[in-house]
Amino acid sequence: MLGKRDQNLTYQFRRGNKLENENRQKGLNGKEMIVPDTSAILTGSVNLLGENIIVPSMVLWEIARGKPARIIKDQEEMLRVVNPQKNSVMRIREEAETTGDLKYLSETDIEVLAVALESNGKIITNDYSIQNVAKKMGIPFEPCGIDPIKNEIKWSFRCKGCRKVYEENLKECRICGHKLVRYRKVD
Ligand SMILES: [Zn+2]
Repeated sequence: MLGKRDQNLTYQFRRGNKLENENRQKGLNGKEMIVPDTSAILTGSVNLLGENIIVPSMVLWEIARGKPARIIKDQEEMLRVVNPQKNSVMRIREEAETTGDLKYLSETDIEVLAVALESNGKIITNDYSIQNVAKKMGIPFEPCGIDPIKNEIKWSFRCKGCRKVYEENLKECRICGHKLVRYRKVD
């Protein structure tokens, strides 16, 4: 028998239902809510100021250290910044543990997933682990940029500093500037 919390989560997981939570109500005219990860914003794939954009608070924190900081200072009051609830974060962690992705997910990645779960939003990310967990949980996602992820890709790249995982071999981590190391993806 499900506890109260589990019933609540089950409800949140029922896809296709329009969630009547706070974020959903903020959604505009039935437009799909979009939850970008940090790289989706840094690569310019997502317009932060779009009316249907939800920005996880840790994503905002990460980009505030980079170039878009100036934009944010001017426009912060226009952004929809969201902190996920504890039980959503816990649910994402549990699911990521079972898929084997947990060790490749940063706290920010987990928050992106949790916010998307709560808001019934679509994640914009090139991060394979985020995509993998999203797929398992029925959370819609879409790659960004010119290099969409395919299942056949065998290699990923992980930052030696913050452990952020990238699907492309960048010169340095977009978040902390450390070098990336290549690793074999486990299917
Ligand atoms: Zn890094």
